Amino acid sequence: MTRTTTPLCTAVSGAITLLRTALKLALFTALGFACALAAPAARAAAPRSAAPAPAPPPSAPAAPAALTFTSLQLAEARALRDRALQDDTGYELLRSLTSRVGPRFAGTPGDSAAVAWALEQMRTLGFQNVRAERVKVPSWRRGECRVELVSPWPQTCAAVALGGSVATPPGGIEAEVVPVTNLDELARIDSTRLAGRIVFFTGRMTRATDGSGYGRAVTVRGRGAVEAARRGALGVVIRSVGTDRNRLPHTGGMRPDSGDTRIPALALSNPDADLLEDQLASGRPVRMRLTNSSRWADSTWSANVIGEIPGRELPRELVVLGAHLDSWDLGTGAHDDGAGVAIMTAAARLIGEARQRPRRTIRVVLFANEEFGLSGARAYAREHASEADRHVLGMESDLGAYAPLGLRSRVPADRLPAIRQMQSVLAPLGVEYRGNDASGDADVGQLVPLGIPVCDLDTDASEYFDLHHTANDTFDKVDPLLVRRNVACYAALAWLAADLPAGFGRAPAAPARR
Ligand SMILES: [Zn+2]
Repeated sequence: MTRTTTPLCTAVSGAITLLRTALKLALFTALGFACALAAPAARAAAPRSAAPAPAPPPSAPAAPAALTFTSLQLAEARALRDRALQDDTGYELLRSLTSRVGPRFAGTPGDSAAVAWALEQMRTLGFQNVRAERVKVPSWRRGECRVELVSPWPQTCAAVALGGSVATPPGGIEAEVVPVTNLDELARIDSTRLAGRIVFFTGRMTRATDGSGYGRAVTVRGRGAVEAARRGALGVVIRSVGTDRNRLPHTGGMRPDSGDTRIPALALSNPDADLLEDQLASGRPVRMRLTNSSRWADSTWSANVIGEIPGRELPRELVVLGAHLDSWDLGTGAHDDGAGVAIMTAAARLIGEARQRPRRTIRVVLFANEEFGLSGARAYAREHASEADRHVLGMESDLGAYAPLGLRSRVPADRLPAIRQMQSVLAPLGVEYRGNDASGDADVGQLVPLGIPVCDLDTDASEYFDLHHTANDTFDKVDPLLVRRNVACYAALAWLAADLPAGFGRAPAAPARR
């Protein structure tokens, strides 16, 4: 996942806006939801002496389509929510994906198996227009890696290569370690201290319910090696971007640009980063040897897997439910993002079985290669740009199967009353409204520049980064009741979004994202 974080001041002003919106909505509801009735009533009350209103010209537009939900629509969404809370389709899909496919890093045999698995599941569950849209993906393969402290006190550290790391020479590289907190500190250090050395990024990710520690810590994973190489370093190790104390390192993608000098880059588990810091604290020079045999190959093919639950009135118009089908190669990608795949597929399937289908189509898009460059999301945005106006709203699940806490939107202001009604259906599950600053997350966020409105469902991310991108991201860590709760939220949200008569217009300006 990559979610943009909200500065506190924005959150406060968002809360004020939210309060205002809530008051407006309450007033609106108190006045009665049948707007259409208000105009004739007002005309009837007008004084007799008033001049008659001019008749509208024949070409006048029809009365504005409804921007809010009826009590009947809300009841349908609540019924769908309650059915989801009794249904383990999502959890069983996740069991199937993690046990039958497992790791599915882009371009590997596991990735191809995941595409085949997703096509089969969607067909079995009754989706229509099930298809794979080909996507070109980069090809990087992990080899063996080894990190040894050579002196003053020899030890072996638990480490993994970061995605995209180049190999070392077969015998490895050995050099003195220079600790650096983050990229800002690196920029201030005299380059002569870095030349010929191994840079150790020591910054520690902080635990937070909103996962905000990730955005701050992850910059060294993306750009640390490139920036250190520019200053003459031979290699880089980082403290894992994760909140756990397991001896399991966290991998993740680097973000080199073409033309950047590349040096090997590895992540130490948090306890091993502590150990290295303790040796450095002795004041004696610490020498380290890195060995890594990962390699790049020619780019290859993967696919976005797409399936639809057709709408009853406007089947060409779409609500997109997104998740990413790929995972890192160390675990079985249970929370990241097998959970999202299972949750969105199960939510759409429940809508397919609802007493009444929504007006528009629910399209599930399982994106290729989110983890190593957003290939699938970028391809989808490119290839579906001409039908952007048929995309009514997008949502993505990529923050694990944890407790849903908040709903964010990115819709025009006149649609906020509808969003607040949608949130009211989720309120009994503990979901509050958090403002009109949704990002769409990494994949669906690629649609925001096309003007497609989005919603984010914030989940409790406080434990997610204990497992994220590690060998420990496995099915046993997933709570079936929380999968149900997520499915309930997305099913209700998607049903309502696909049934709002007026749709959601175009999204306000794009949020900052990677
Ligand atoms: Zn993810």
